Amino acid sequence: MENTNPITEKYHFKNDYDDYTEHNAKPHIENKSISAQSQIASRLNFKWDSTLKELQHWSSSDYSVYTGTSGVGLLLLKKAPDDKRNLRNIRKKYFQLEHLKNRCITFLCGDAGPLSIAAVISHKLEDQKIFDFCIKRLTAFLKVVKNTSSDLPNEYLYGRTGYLYALLFVNKHVSPPPFSGAVIRSVITTILSCGENLARHLKMEKECPLMFEWHESKYLGAAHGISGIIYLLLQAKEYLLEGELNDLIKPTIAYLTTLRFPTGNFPSSIGPGKKDKYVQWCHGAPGFLYMYCAAYRVFGDQLYIYNALKCADIIWWRGLLKKGYSLCHGVAGNAYCFLELFQTTKEEKHLYRAIKFAEYCLDYTEQREECTPDRPMSLFEGISGPMYLLLDIQDPMNAKFPGFTL
Ligand SMILES: [Zn+2]
Repeated sequence: MENTNPITEKYHFKNDYDDYTEHNAKPHIENKSISAQSQIASRLNFKWDSTLKELQHWSSSDYSVYTGTSGVGLLLLKKAPDDKRNLRNIRKKYFQLEHLKNRCITFLCGDAGPLSIAAVISHKLEDQKIFDFCIKRLTAFLKVVKNTSSDLPNEYLYGRTGYLYALLFVNKHVSPPPFSGAVIRSVITTILSCGENLARHLKMEKECPLMFEWHESKYLGAAHGISGIIYLLLQAKEYLLEGELNDLIKPTIAYLTTLRFPTGNFPSSIGPGKKDKYVQWCHGAPGFLYMYCAAYRVFGDQLYIYNALKCADIIWWRGLLKKGYSLCHGVAGNAYCFLELFQTTKEEKHLYRAIKFAEYCLDYTEQREECTPDRPMSLFEGISGPMYLLLDIQDPMNAKFPGFTL
């Protein structure tokens, strides 16, 4: 069913693409991957060259993954992840660790991003000194993270989940993994106990055993909210106990499902009078799609797939955002939802939809971007995000939303 609500159309362009049929998918997909004739394959090199040209003279004093140099570094790493000369140049130019200010502890917005990526690069370069430095600095944040009486939030961008992601990212890419199970577990139990405490304080623990706040709002989306937190916990399921999965996470997901608007979208936070506005990675259905896909992979219940498919439909109809092409609140971020669903279900339909959104990102024009991003080169707000998607989608079974999916 197409959504033609005039209120929501303030936020997105009408999706004029034909939806999936086997016939429509034929020119784009071959053996569950991108066909060489598809525009997103045949025009990739041209797009890469023009993006590089724009990035050539760019520099920034912002070192974050989200809007700064580490995000652009991550894009360049994606292109040539094992070329040692490339790795050395990228580390030198985009990961100037001496400038880190020790201000925030997360992968996307804080020092943990540059430190964890630099650790992985240094491991590949067999540079033990810088690797040890990064691990030591990352470990030092543990004290702040484990302090539950501080006002540190738990969400992805500025909170504990964003720190947990950094540790898991390093462990995934470095062998043997430098952070022990006990360290990872200590972060997870801190997040869970913060969630349980707030739910208890709000007297909602019976219906929803975990609740989190950021800036005194109970956000729900991927960036600041509970769907993002649960998504990472489910990705780290080998560190969770059966009881935590079944008695805390499962009922919390069931409660969150009751908050869905009749359209299939979700509010950005809990509270009265919430409007059905945003369908973007940071707010709305996209974060829920990831949570449901991960829940299906952990619990195997088809109901989660049903819920993820409902999210996917709303993203398809309302996901070509007037805000632009970015990962955080734009079309590239929404394209990744279809890739997550494709990887979970292996159904070609979702790959087809991802390809259409990626195709849309190939034709980057200012007419389709109502507000110019403040950081136009950056990974999460600017052109580096859609470029990252275009590289990543070439191997669709392994594409991963940077800084969010492990
Ligand atoms: Zn956003």
